[in-house]
Amino acid sequence: MAAQSPQLAARRSRFVVVGGGIAGVTCAERLATEFPSDDILLVTASPLIKAVTNFKQVSRTLEEFDVEEQASSILEKRYPNIKVIQSGVKQLKSEEHKIITEAGQEYIYEKLCLCAGARPKLITERNPFVLGIRDTDSAGEFQKHLARAKRITIVGNGGIALELAYEIEGCEVIWAIKDKAIGNTFFDAGAAEFLIPKLSAVKPEPPIACKRTKYTTAGSEIEQSAAANPGEIGSALGPDWHEGLCLKGAKELSHKVHIESLCEVKKIYLREEFQQSEKVSLAFPIDQPDEKNAEMDEERWPVYVELTSGKIYGCDFIVSATGVVPNVQPFLDGNNFVLGGDGGLTVDKYMHTSLPDIYAAGDICTTSWEPSPVWQQMRLWTQARQMGWYAAKCMAADTLGEPTDMDFCFELFAHVTKFFNYKVVLLGKYNAQGLGSDHELMLRCTKGQEYVKVVMQNGRMLGAVLIGETDLEETFENLILNQMDLSRYGEDLLDPRIDIEDYFD
Ligand code: FAD
Repeated sequence: MAAQSPQLAARRSRFVVVGGGIAGVTCAERLATEFPSDDILLVTASPLIKAVTNFKQVSRTLEEFDVEEQASSILEKRYPNIKVIQSGVKQLKSEEHKIITEAGQEYIYEKLCLCAGARPKLITERNPFVLGIRDTDSAGEFQKHLARAKRITIVGNGGIALELAYEIEGCEVIWAIKDKAIGNTFFDAGAAEFLIPKLSAVKPEPPIACKRTKYTTAGSEIEQSAAANPGEIGSALGPDWHEGLCLKGAKELSHKVHIESLCEVKKIYLREEFQQSEKVSLAFPIDQPDEKNAEMDEERWPVYVELTSGKIYGCDFIVSATGVVPNVQPFLDGNNFVLGGDGGLTVDKYMHTSLPDIYAAGDICTTSWEPSPVWQQMRLWTQARQMGWYAAKCMAADTLGEPTDMDFCFELFAHVTKFFNYKVVLLGKYNAQGLGSDHELMLRCTKGQEYVKVVMQNGRMLGAVLIGETDLEETFENLILNQMDLSRYGEDLLDPRIDIEDYFD
């Protein structure tokens, strides 16, 4: 029998983390600090890793940070006991405590944390005119296509679709959403109404020059790495992901967005197929939102989208921004993981999957513990960081035989972001998730300035949406956390003449 190549001899490590996104990197960093004399192996398919920078704890649960894409050598320099292995994991042999990479190398772990993220859920996988946006590579591809486009169709109603619809210039945008109002993942119809005027308004500043502002590695290096590793799954983009991109189409026009609500994509036709079908496509509707007088389109397009409403639009390409699916596939074969309803690896309150010594964090996992009444899992940047951090804490505690307390960040869902150039803060059950009709809403809105919504149940605040510079986040965060009975304040709670902070001091 031929001797085994020494290069392929299994390597042992107490801790192995899979995935160079924010969950994996944060997990590896914390393990590296807790166990300075151990090597922490970070095995990742992407040539670059994600790093959290400028971290700011805005309040007890709200946090803000930037994300930088860096060469793995920078991480290894900061944490000399982290060793980054750039290769995808193709197989997990959980009974042998072993992973095998695409390069054929085997690694034996004592504790493993899977942080392989998620993949875009495309409306169709096999159409070259349908693009998804997930990582630097796919974002670059999108930008290239957009530069030549006169009209695109965006399908989906989450954060990515919202940002694209607002940011894209120089191109007509048909935006198809299955809900009644835009941004359904984040807000209700009232907030959507508040935001819609921004879609047609001229932006406050001229579009920034096309430059990458967030990447520490030179753009060319990123592109070279991507080119050297085609088809590999990079980390998901994150906050301000579009800042580094030039989201400008081929036309000389500002925002031009037409929303088609309550519909999904029924069929996609390529040009020839469409011509043969003898169907008719519509011109870009001029007067939003009443598009009854939409005319037939004379122009010929590379691709046509037929919506369930019966309308058909031609366009240069389609962006599928219809959510993600956890990237569990490489780890399933031969391993009896329990999966959540959304396909993620279920984790208990110690970030443990259903298999011994395997933890998971970030987009790949589905939490299965009984959550605090005002927390829910969402596949967001902040939660990827929090879970990566907490998973490392649990791995360390298990290794040392110590108890672990649930991290405070899981007490209250708190997310701060930007939509349509407004600051947006989401707290607790901000959309009355899971509350049925057993709740009340209180609203305050000043057109073009702020939108405040609170979700109340039995006189207690359970959630809030704050759009604009409201300065209410800390007070509301406290009110949700302490569950104070607010019945006696009634409508005063949102009265702009009352300084609510003083009220509750
Ligand atoms: P990822 O960042 O996806 O990292 C997964 C890592 O695993 C990658 O390094 C990948 O290369 C590696 N990997 C995958 N498969 C393997 C394998 N088989 N072997 C080895 N390594 C593997 N969130 C927000 O909070 N705010 C936003 O504004 C926001 N905007 C977004 C915009 C876009 C376009 C996208 C796509 C996402 C956005 N998100 C946003 C979501 C956020 O980016 C994700 O929730 C977060 O990045 C998840 O981090 P993660 O570490 O779990 O996974």
